[in-house]
Amino acid sequence: MATLKLYNTLTRAKDVFKPIDPKAIRMYVCGPTVYDYAHIGNARPIIVFDMLFRLLRHLYGAEHVTYVRNITDIDDKINAKAKEEGVAIGELTSRTTHQFHEDIAALNVLEPTHEPRATGTIPEIITIIEKLIATGHAYVAEGHVLFDVPSMKDYGKLSRRPLDDMIAGARIDVAPYKKGEMDFVLWKPSGPDLPGWDSPWGRGRPGWHIECSAMSWKHLGETFDIHGGGIDLIFPHHENEVAQTRCAFGLKVMANVWMHNGFLQIDGQKMSKSLGNFLTINELLKDWPGEILRFNMLRTHYRQPIDWTVKGLEESRRILDGFYNSASARLTEDVRFSPAVLEALCDDLNTPRAIAELHTLDRPNFQAELGATLNALGFTGKHVEDKAAKIDEHKVNELIAARLKARGARNWAESDRLRNELDALGVVVMDNKDGTTSWEVKR
Ligand code: AMP
Ligand code: ZN
Repeated sequence: MATLKLYNTLTRAKDVFKPIDPKAIRMYVCGPTVYDYAHIGNARPIIVFDMLFRLLRHLYGAEHVTYVRNITDIDDKINAKAKEEGVAIGELTSRTTHQFHEDIAALNVLEPTHEPRATGTIPEIITIIEKLIATGHAYVAEGHVLFDVPSMKDYGKLSRRPLDDMIAGARIDVAPYKKGEMDFVLWKPSGPDLPGWDSPWGRGRPGWHIECSAMSWKHLGETFDIHGGGIDLIFPHHENEVAQTRCAFGLKVMANVWMHNGFLQIDGQKMSKSLGNFLTINELLKDWPGEILRFNMLRTHYRQPIDWTVKGLEESRRILDGFYNSASARLTEDVRFSPAVLEALCDDLNTPRAIAELHTLDRPNFQAELGATLNALGFTGKHVEDKAAKIDEHKVNELIAARLKARGARNWAESDRLRNELDALGVVVMDNKDGTTSWEVKR
C-alpha cells in the first residue's frame, strides 16, 4: 500500500500517517456557520477534505472511514442576521443549511458520514462543561462558564504563539467576570429573545469552541486521527478545542494530525464576509459548472494561498474539457486512481502534481485510465452531460436530414447555413468517409 504522508500543524512536519485503528479511520472537519450563502473561500476546506476523504476510502476501504463535518447552527452572527431579516432563527439556519448542501453537491463533494448540528449536541456540550468544572479547568462567573486557561500547563501547543500575541488576541473580548485575560467562554446566559437551553448554570447557550469538542466526541470518541479546517481556525478555535477535550477527558492528545488549508484570496487578500470581497458559490455556479470550480481549487496545493481569478477559471475549463475530450472519461463507470496520481495524493495531498500526472495520461491507449482517475478525483463530466441533456435531439435530426437533402441537391450555401444552425445549438456535425453523417455535443 502506498505510504500516506500528511503535514501536521502539531509537529510542523510532513509525517507518515499512522491510523489509531486502520479499520476505523476517524476525521473531523469544522463546517460552516449557517447564516448566509457560503462563499468560495468556505468551499476550500470542503473540497480539500473531500479529496482526503476519497483518498482515505481508497487506502483503507470505504466502510472503514468515518468523516464528520459539522453545521454550526448556534452563533451570535446567526442571531444578529435573523434579527436583521426579521425571521426565526430556525428558519434562517434551515434555509442556509439547505442552500449550502445544494451548492456543495454541485462541487461533487461526497456526503460526510455524519453531519451533526450544534443544536443537536446540547447534552454532550453540558457533559463536557461539567467535567471541566469538576476537574478544576472551568469556573462559573455571573451566569457564564469560562475555561481557566492557566489551569492547563501546555496550552498553546498547537498554535505555538507567543504568549503576548495570545493575550492580545484574547483582549478582543475583555469581560469583568474573567479571572484570566485568555479565559474563554464555554456557556453564556441567554435573554428571553435569544436561543437558550436549560443547564446547571441557568438558561443559556454554548460558546463556539465547545460545540466542536462535543460533536467530535459524540461521533468519533475522545481521541481520533485527523482534525481539519482553514488556517484561520488554528487560533483560537482549534487551540481551545484541544484544551477542552484534553482537559475534560485527561488526554495527551485530542487528534493526532491537525491539517489546515491556506486562504483563498482576491487580489492578495483573504476572501471574507467582513471584508466584503467575496463571491458566493451560488453566484459562481451561474457562470461556471461546479466541476470547474472544483478543478480550479485543486490546481493549487491545499496549504498554499490561491488567488481566485476569472483567468484561472478559464484555464481550468480549457484543461478539464480537454481531458474530457480525449478520455472515454465521462462515460466510464470505473473509479480508480492511476498509480502516479495515487503517489502524488499520498504526498500530503499534492493535487497539482496529480493534475500534472493526468496530462501524461492524456494520450492514445490511456483514455480509460484517464477517465477512471478523473472519476476517482471527483470529476464525472456531469456538466458535459448536462449540456447534452439540454439539446433537442428531434430538432437536431431534422436539421441534419435537411442538410443531407441540401447536399444531395448540391446546394452548398443552404448546407453551410444548416451546419451553422446546428453549431449554434451546440452540436458538431461529422461527415464520415462511409457517406454517413453523425453528430456529437460540442464541448
Ligand atoms: P466559517 O463559516 O467562517 O466558520 O468558515 C468555515 C470554513 O471556511 C472554516 O474552515 C474556515 O477556515 C474556512 N474559510 C473561511 N474563509 C476562507 C478563505 N478565504 N480561504 C480558505 N478557507 C476559508
Ligand atoms: Zn470547529
